[in-house]
Amino acid sequence: MHEPKLPHLTAADPTLAALVEGEAKRQHDKLRMIASENYVSTAVLEACGTVLNNKYSEGYPGKRYYEGQQFCDQIETLAIERAKALFGTEHANVQTYSGSPANLAVYLAFMQPGDTFLSLELAQGGHLTHGSPVSATGKWFRPEHYTVGRDTGRIDMDLVRDTALAVRPKMIFCGGTAIPRTIDFPAFAAIAREVGAILVADIAHIAGLIAGGAHPSPVGHADVITTTTHKTLRGPRGAMIMASAEHATAIDKAVFPGLQGGPHNHTTAGIAVALHEAAQPTFTAYAHQIVANAKALATALNERGFDLVSGGTDNHLLLIDLTGKGVEGKPAAKVLDAAGIELNFNTVPYDPRKPWSPSGIRLGTAALTTRGLTEQHMPQVAAWMDDAVTAAVKDDTATVERIACQVRDLLQGFPMPGYTD
Ligand SMILES: *Cc1c(COP(=O)(O)O)cnc(C)c1O
Repeated sequence: MHEPKLPHLTAADPTLAALVEGEAKRQHDKLRMIASENYVSTAVLEACGTVLNNKYSEGYPGKRYYEGQQFCDQIETLAIERAKALFGTEHANVQTYSGSPANLAVYLAFMQPGDTFLSLELAQGGHLTHGSPVSATGKWFRPEHYTVGRDTGRIDMDLVRDTALAVRPKMIFCGGTAIPRTIDFPAFAAIAREVGAILVADIAHIAGLIAGGAHPSPVGHADVITTTTHKTLRGPRGAMIMASAEHATAIDKAVFPGLQGGPHNHTTAGIAVALHEAAQPTFTAYAHQIVANAKALATALNERGFDLVSGGTDNHLLLIDLTGKGVEGKPAAKVLDAAGIELNFNTVPYDPRKPWSPSGIRLGTAALTTRGLTEQHMPQVAAWMDDAVTAAVKDDTATVERIACQVRDLLQGFPMPGYTD
């Protein structure tokens, strides 16, 4: 059953309630390894489901366009102060609706239409909002891209510098969606300074690792930091923009009134709770356990002949080229899902195949670490993945069903926040 319980929803709309219950059980029974996902705490779920949903608060604490902000001002201030304390920044904006609008706000704050910026392209591990041709960021601005090394699978900092010197970008993005290695923030900062660009660190994937001390922080190196709150940071779906005091006004103006109207106060409350949780010593242990699990899984998969981009991982994320296993990313992801192992098909750098049917899969250990799995379970996870991928090649549904049962049995011993048996 979903936790908190849903008696009113069940009475008012049994159809919808049954779908939510179905999703809760699905999340309970699956090994959830989509690298951008997690399980939020029941406290976060409760904060997001409150009457804060009813309130309009256009503006910022102490300067609103609607009355009745006696509590919402305090809630947003709490979230802001907790973000600043956790990451050590001078300014935080907690109003952006999600990671993509947060990035768009940064463009609005620092760029004019047609201005040039530098980023890692989506197919190499960047994000849509880092200038993909189908994104507003690619249509309205001029993206130039650096790449990862063909042989190393790692970002080539010499190439970043050469490209930056050649194209003179106004802004440089670092960070992405499929980067299994540590981002060298000081090196990016040195290049940005040399060419007079604003350095934006998009830490959406690794924010929780940074908060927990399991990845170096961009603070003191990047001019602006954007992050989602719902990936390794383990908060509600939302985002934050952090910066030095110098850029505070430009960012706040870009978010409101530049792009948005009223902030989602219930989400702000959930973010405040998640930031409080992330400031506890248990979260530091959690962040390090995510990385330990990812490394243990990488070792076990390497031993089974999986081809990991860059050879392994420094963070929560693994990117795997399945070409050598004789299966494409999409059918592999579908069979793995049927086997109770949920992840996504993904392009690998220099992928000869198309994004809708690429060569690889991407996975992460944030959610299974929240469930309480440790290094000792990772060889078993790797074995299941290997068996499922082999089953995909042979069309062996019996093996897939066996793995799904075994996954469910294992997870029975690891409670899920948001669900009770
Ligand atoms: C997830 C992500 C985003 C976008 O977040 P949404 O909330 O999905 O809009 C932006 N940048 C990076 C690097 C991400 O991983």
